[in-house]
Amino acid sequence: MSAPWPRRPRLVAGNWKMNKTSVEGAALARELVTLLAGGRPCEIAVCPPFTALESVGAVLRGTGVHLGGQNLHSETHGAFTGEIAGPMLAAVGCRFAIVGHSERRHVMGEDDATVARKTRAALRDGLTPIVCVGETLAEREAERTTEVLVRQVAAVYDGMPVADVRATVIAYEPVWAIGTGRVATPDQARDAHRVIRATLDRVAGAGMGAGIGILYGGSVNAGNAAALFAEEEVDGALVGGASLEATGFWRIAVAANAG
Ligand code: PEP
Repeated sequence: MSAPWPRRPRLVAGNWKMNKTSVEGAALARELVTLLAGGRPCEIAVCPPFTALESVGAVLRGTGVHLGGQNLHSETHGAFTGEIAGPMLAAVGCRFAIVGHSERRHVMGEDDATVARKTRAALRDGLTPIVCVGETLAEREAERTTEVLVRQVAAVYDGMPVADVRATVIAYEPVWAIGTGRVATPDQARDAHRVIRATLDRVAGAGMGAGIGILYGGSVNAGNAAALFAEEEVDGALVGGASLEATGFWRIAVAANAG
């Protein structure tokens, strides 16, 4: 069972994707820890590749910076070659697991049911899932953003016990903004976050939407973060490319604290 995640703290999480060896990851974590010597501006997490979790975790131990996995399998163990289970992430010190990232949905073919299973597995294994949802460019242009978000959120949260809902974080990540340099406007993020909260109210229980942290993800950097964080619907950011450079990532966390 996952430890409850506090009600909507500012959270900036770095998704390193398939970047950094074990040694390189530890070096990046050390740079980040040095920048944080004067205090942590907000809740911060980094999600290195599986092979760097141990070395990065060792650097982060005792700093208050959280560790996360980028994915997990829905089973706890077994004949699943190439997969990583939630208990393995927890054992190496992970607090978070990203589930349903658009690269897993659209490149690796994960569907809504898989994302729902993985979310429940993360909760079962004591991890806080960061549940990613978001529309493609074609879906946005066809004015199907709301429909897609409702479907993706409902698939995960319909009938989920209240305590489990409260132990999750959502990341709204429009696919067209991920790794493209094309960031959503604060208004677009606000509107999407409102759709997500309204859907949670409907499928998980009245008032659930207001209590859950929703991060924005998609080409966030130190230059555009403040405008996004000024939007009160935005509780933080899931950061890909800009999390690979310590100073820029730290500046995003500082902006989250100010916003
Ligand atoms: C991500 O990978 O979740 C992401 C948001 O990437 P980027 O910041 O590079 O767009």
